[in-house]
Amino acid sequence: MSFDKNRLPEPVSYYESQGLAFKERRGKWRTTACNFHGGTDSLRINTETGAFVCMAGCGARGGDVLAFHMANAGLDFITAAKELGAWVDDGQPAPARPTPLPARDALAVLAVEANLVAVAAANVAHGVALSQLDLSRVLQAAGRIQKIVEVFA
Ligand SMILES: [Zn+2]
Repeated sequence: MSFDKNRLPEPVSYYESQGLAFKERRGKWRTTACNFHGGTDSLRINTETGAFVCMAGCGARGGDVLAFHMANAGLDFITAAKELGAWVDDGQPAPARPTPLPARDALAVLAVEANLVAVAAANVAHGVALSQLDLSRVLQAAGRIQKIVEVFA
């Protein structure tokens, strides 16, 4: 999966689809409302690149419609790119490594393994020697806990 800048929507139609109206009908740079700080006529938009900058100095600025979409909708890069149709499946794995199991399942595994270790420790504390099988199971539990820590850390 990867980002394809060429698939980003055309700037003017994109900004209009976001409910923004331009003061000018033509021109490379056009003016519209800055919803980042509530200004009615301070956001300047480059209609060729999609870049935006707030002239009132509220700090809103970015290089293309993707940057605007991220800031405006509070989205991360990949989610914003997907919403704009610029995220393409090219057969490559996604750069963000997905976790092998949901967090809730990982917690369930942690609970089971932690309990198993606690029982083994209690046995040892009461003078019960762990069998080779029990010992290897305890080490396996420690390994599973470590694995989950690595994945979610
Ligand atoms: Zn602003």
